[in-house]
Amino acid sequence: MGSNENRNYTFYEFTNSLCPVCLDTVPAKIIIRDKKVYLLKYCKTHGEQLELLEEDVEYHLKKKLYDKPGTSMKIHTKVEKGCPFDCGTCPQHDQHACIGLIEVTNKCNLRCPLCYADAGDGEFLALDHIEKMMDFLQDSEGNQAEILQISGGEPTLHPDIISILKMAKAKKFKYVMLNTNGIRIAEDEAFVKELQQFVGGFEVYLQFDGFKSATYQKLRGENVFSKKQKAIDSLGKHKIPTTLVSSISAGINDDEIGEIFSYGLKQPYVRGINFQPVAFFGRTDQTAEQNRVTLSGILKRMEQQTSGMLRLDDFIPLPCNVERVAITYMYRSSKGGFVPITRDARIQEYLHLINNTFVYTIEDALKNAGRSLLDLNTSCDCFKFLNDFRKIIPLDFFKKSKMQKIEYVDQNTFRISVSSFLDAYNFDMKSMQKECVHVITKDLRKIPFSAYNTIHRKGSSL
Ligand code: SF4
Ligand code: SF4
Ligand SMILES: [Zn+2]
Repeated sequence: MGSNENRNYTFYEFTNSLCPVCLDTVPAKIIIRDKKVYLLKYCKTHGEQLELLEEDVEYHLKKKLYDKPGTSMKIHTKVEKGCPFDCGTCPQHDQHACIGLIEVTNKCNLRCPLCYADAGDGEFLALDHIEKMMDFLQDSEGNQAEILQISGGEPTLHPDIISILKMAKAKKFKYVMLNTNGIRIAEDEAFVKELQQFVGGFEVYLQFDGFKSATYQKLRGENVFSKKQKAIDSLGKHKIPTTLVSSISAGINDDEIGEIFSYGLKQPYVRGINFQPVAFFGRTDQTAEQNRVTLSGILKRMEQQTSGMLRLDDFIPLPCNVERVAITYMYRSSKGGFVPITRDARIQEYLHLINNTFVYTIEDALKNAGRSLLDLNTSCDCFKFLNDFRKIIPLDFFKKSKMQKIEYVDQNTFRISVSSFLDAYNFDMKSMQKECVHVITKDLRKIPFSAYNTIHRKGSSL
């Protein structure tokens, strides 16, 4: 009969998950063990499953303090089979699209073993169809869509890529990102020159996974490091703001996080780095047990590998999706080096000034503070906020021309974010429903990125 031994974990909360084998919805406990957070689930057919959710329990527990209500958007489907099968977006979804993503092709000049899109030989979407997708995104966001990411496959291979970007700008997306592996950028300087016309609400989102040949072999199928370096040089030469996007996999390149950070900081037009734990969907044969790294795991490694120049505490869970995005800004201090903004400004107190969006810029926060000052109903936090931020951005910043502002931000601030996605292993329904990166499919649906890659891609890809 039963023993009196304790369980080896603490129960924290309950959620729904998926069984990665049969993709059935299964009940899951979120539990804490050895200062880490796990999902413990049970599938009637495939038994008990344990999955790592976060590597730092304290970070996990503090996330909730940053949560804000989601922003509503147009609903396109009904609740029928339950989440994540009703995308989208269905009435259960709790967050609008901070980022709308359009895959303009599934053709690619690389064959990355971890490709989410299973890209390779493929076709190009016609310009008029892409226009319909952009209009659909704008419409579902009440014509105030914020960020459009042009993705693929490799979007720079699309013969109409410049027209696509022109169209995106004409449709008044606040921010347009070009999501690229950088091969064409390294090889075709005339193309980089053409991209210059989009600067101001435009950036290149450049895949960059580290320095080791083995990293590129395992993640990208060939060593493309020298191409990355060439691409960064060319983008710098033509003054094009760039974010490095690093996919991190445990045991492959999780020892390169610190070095990626110091490298990025030194490149004049690299404005930031986005680290992404590799998710287990698409072409990958990695298994969750061996290669899983989590958002807080990346933050911990960053602290270790930058000798504390960045600390786990410098990161705040982004209010639009606290579970899956962490962010910090660094600014150039009067003494020269870069310092995380959290050391000088009490970000936690100013959450109401931060937009429900992914690319939260210092400039946006200052503008919001200015707006709130005119609203007599708000508390005087905004004055404190301006005082705090005066150390960071000189007040004459707003007198600068648009190009001077861009130049100033490029040279003096640096954004570091970590965004993680959900796959069939670490699927947590409550976190899923707050996801703010939405894919616009060619059959005009708007599907949260993780649900798209876990469930829906097969039925709707090019
Ligand atoms: S992921 Fe969002 S849109 Fe999709 S089924 Fe779940 S709640 Fe609905
Ligand atoms: S991950 Fe990106 S670069 Fe690699 S094959 Fe897929 S689309 Fe191409
Ligand atoms: Zn199962």
